[in-house]
Amino acid sequence: MQKHVDTPDFIEVTQTADISPATYGGRAKCLQRLIRMDLPVPKTVALSFAGVRKIASGQLIEIEGLLDLIGDTLVSVRQSRQVSDWGGPGAVLNIGMNAARHAAMSNTIGHAAADALFRRFIQCYAVEVAHLDPEMFADATASVADLRDAYEAETDEPFPDDPARQLTDVLAAMARTWESTSARLLREARGAPKDAGLGLVVQEMALGLGAPESGAGVIQFIDGTTGQAQVTGRYRSQAQGRDALKEGVGSLFLTKDPRGASLEQHCPEIFAELLDMGVACRTRLREEMQIEFTIDDGELRVLDAVRVPRTSRANVRTAVALAEDGVIDRNEAILRVQPNALIDLLHRQVDETAPREVCLSGIAASPGAATGRIVFTAAAALAAEAREEATILVRRETKPDDIRGMHAAVGVLTERGGMTSHAAVIARGIGLPCVVGATGLRINRREKTIVVDDGQVIKEGDLITIDGSRGEIIAGEAALLEPALDEAFQTLLSWADEARDIGVRANADTLADARTARDFRAEGIGLCRTEHMFFDEGRMKVMREMIFADTPEDRSAVLERLLPMQRADFVALFELMRGQPVCVRLLDPPLHEFLPDGTEGLRELAQVLNVPLAKATRRVEALTEFNPMLGMRGVRLGIKVPEIYEIQARAIFEAAVIAGETGVAPVPEVMIPLVSAKREVELVKSRVDAVAAAVRNESGQDFSYRLGVMVETPRACLRADEIAQHSEFLSFGTNDLTQMTYGLSRDDAGRFMNDYVQEGVYPEDPFHRLDLDGVGELLMIAAERGKDAKRNVTLAICGEHAGDPEAIAFCRRFGFDYVSCSPFRVPVARLAAAHQAITGGNGT
Ligand code: PEP
Ligand code: MG
Repeated sequence: MQKHVDTPDFIEVTQTADISPATYGGRAKCLQRLIRMDLPVPKTVALSFAGVRKIASGQLIEIEGLLDLIGDTLVSVRQSRQVSDWGGPGAVLNIGMNAARHAAMSNTIGHAAADALFRRFIQCYAVEVAHLDPEMFADATASVADLRDAYEAETDEPFPDDPARQLTDVLAAMARTWESTSARLLREARGAPKDAGLGLVVQEMALGLGAPESGAGVIQFIDGTTGQAQVTGRYRSQAQGRDALKEGVGSLFLTKDPRGASLEQHCPEIFAELLDMGVACRTRLREEMQIEFTIDDGELRVLDAVRVPRTSRANVRTAVALAEDGVIDRNEAILRVQPNALIDLLHRQVDETAPREVCLSGIAASPGAATGRIVFTAAAALAAEAREEATILVRRETKPDDIRGMHAAVGVLTERGGMTSHAAVIARGIGLPCVVGATGLRINRREKTIVVDDGQVIKEGDLITIDGSRGEIIAGEAALLEPALDEAFQTLLSWADEARDIGVRANADTLADARTARDFRAEGIGLCRTEHMFFDEGRMKVMREMIFADTPEDRSAVLERLLPMQRADFVALFELMRGQPVCVRLLDPPLHEFLPDGTEGLRELAQVLNVPLAKATRRVEALTEFNPMLGMRGVRLGIKVPEIYEIQARAIFEAAVIAGETGVAPVPEVMIPLVSAKREVELVKSRVDAVAAAVRNESGQDFSYRLGVMVETPRACLRADEIAQHSEFLSFGTNDLTQMTYGLSRDDAGRFMNDYVQEGVYPEDPFHRLDLDGVGELLMIAAERGKDAKRNVTLAICGEHAGDPEAIAFCRRFGFDYVSCSPFRVPVARLAAAHQAITGGNGT
């Protein structure tokens, strides 16, 4: 018998057997650990990945030798994968049952129990091995003879009697199921490599049937949804496998329960033994385990243990609890939580266990879920907010003047756009669930309806649920789970902060954003897009007057009226951030974004500004560009209309003086957008320095500030050496940099991105996932050249990619000082940075 132990195809699972998850799968390894803990595990043999591959290809293994190892008994076969969510075949129990055994067992455990064992086996074999229609074998009242007859009628051969043949067939069926195309595609979609192997575990059956106290159950020691310590599970007398978990079968609760009888009352000693096992598994396996057990004639047997299936929030709580109890160390707790999984804790989520009727899908642009009534204009969202009604704002695409409506709505849905279009960026910034690029809908603004491709019509006022985490729209109201920013979440992140070695700031345009950033412990603001401060109605009017001013003097006079408003914005921001760095980006968008479009809008504009309609039309036309994103925007605006940047610089410096008088002196950072040439920086720098000098003079107060460049054009990357000479920091705006590197409009790419990704042209949407090869090379070149020219220049990234674990790993590798992401990505970035630091850059 011993000679088989060393064969590579199968091996008896003993305390000392050479078993690893990479060759025999996780279940085999886990069973070995249970055996090492002296838990009462029935005799088990593990088949290796190589052995199972052999079987799948039609070769034979030494089945008699395998049966010799197990002994003369019924057996079960379960799969043993490397990673538990890679799918695969279901378990088969009671293999080896035949007429002779049935007769013998009728004498030992009784006729009824022997019948039940045989029936279950025939049903399972017929469906899983012979692939017969499950309906034909579903009748619970059918006798063994009926089932055998049904099998013979369908297959034209008698039900196999020989245990060796039965086991061979079961193993072959399971091996082939794993190799099927559908199973392979499913596991590859879940991240399995092409050559992922399957191990199988053959185990002596612990019957759970027959003798008076026999049965089967499942126990775990935490709640899989919340992670709270709590004994959960069921036990059922005269049952096998996971039967106890089925609804309405008269199972016992485990602990004492007012709803009914419990195992604790029924078999207190066995219950106490199970509790001890739970404690032992937790400490020895360093994990919360779900244990599958049977009671065989009053004796407890442990058949299997798996990691408790759990939600992201339960996983955080468990990792922290294990570390706090000294079972694992803090670094391991950090590594046990995937950074992106934290997103599930930050927002409301659609309850995955509830049914969902998806009526439309698009790009998952901003995570979280919300239910509201459909509105088609920002004004309608604002009016509904005043009535305390929740709304979902539906637009073809959003524009800057929709921002207030977006703040008023609980979710946003757009027909057009991609991951970095206006709606997506704003929604992520304010934590609003958002789906963009929902190309399967047509908006009929006149009728106030959405017509979905399948003909369904959704009207204004209809209730929908938006799932921004999945990019889905659900008809009506869906069950939602609340966010879980509890103590465990805070603890885990505080440990992450101790471990990480790259800074994390937030992109925040408003006080509300900044508050969120501070609550999530961002280390300052890495990007404050000032244009968003002008979209308030009163300020918009002043901006428009400025655009319509005929001379620089007139322009300056109008801008003077904006000064106190901007100054107040910055005072509030500096005070809120209490001395942490605040990086203010000077105005970036083309001026036409402040003007209305359409005849009606123009007429209103002319009226409000008291200018003839012809003049208003002429001015708007004069600002129209063929390619506005490549036109008069960013620093070009600052050079062509210098009064704008001057007034912004003044507002920043005066605010710094005021905030410094009342609290911690801020060190403002001024950032110049869309730079492509050194001279641009020189020009703006000399003007900004002059404004600083003037404010110092007028206020009699000294203050310091840092001036830097937002690197968003390929040329700025290539010329980073000369640009760095005039800059204290270089912050990479990877949204525009991606747009310009690919020559791909970030607002239009959504229309064909899916096709491009499906055709394999791009591995992923580069606006979603940083293109490490192309855009990454530019970042690398710029970082190197920038540092060579100025050793202490600060390097940062502030595009939407900055919250992505992969981009964070990249930035850390090339010596970046910090990343700056949407406020709601800050926790993800903190954790991802910790993973990188702990694993030395090989993490996550
Ligand atoms: C960028 O281009 O990466 C950026 C952060 O700026 P914006 O998205 O405002 O263009
Ligand atoms: Mg930009």
